[in-house]
Amino acid sequence: MTECIFCKIIAGEIPCSKLYEDEHIFAFLDIAPVTPGHTLVVPKHHCRNLFDIPEQILQDCALAIKKIGTAVKIGMRAEGLNVGMNNEGVAGQVVFHAHFHLIPRYPDDGLRHWLNGKYKEGEEVHAQEKITAELQ
Ligand code: 5GP
Ligand code: ZN
Repeated sequence: MTECIFCKIIAGEIPCSKLYEDEHIFAFLDIAPVTPGHTLVVPKHHCRNLFDIPEQILQDCALAIKKIGTAVKIGMRAEGLNVGMNNEGVAGQVVFHAHFHLIPRYPDDGLRHWLNGKYKEGEEVHAQEKITAELQ
């Protein structure tokens, strides 16, 4: 039996506030919401994160995010919505079953975006070269 908490939620072995389910996707409320209505969109297929998710399943997730995200925004009377994915522990991933956070945004909800920085001399071109080399 799997030890993955999200696989157990999908299988109905652990209770959740379920919002949506189809052949490939499961969505439910995050147990510790950043804002009310914070939703997790999860592929039923177990994979770790962005780096091993099959492309077809990622496409299913993208369509589900649009459908469910629109319902979350309208249903929760939110003014906006952040969509996020943490990939690996250093990026804040705690549950290692790929998932997307849909976080409704309200006026004065107190959330802050990450702080923008500034490149040092040569850093930007270095980053550009390293990344584009991987895209050849
Ligand atoms: P991560 O940091 O891995 O991107 O996010 C994992 C999320 O899963 C967290 O926001 C956490 O609150 C949520 N979570 C962890 N365990 C459970 C659970 O048993 N039920 C629900 N509904 N959410 C969970
Ligand atoms: Zn899993």
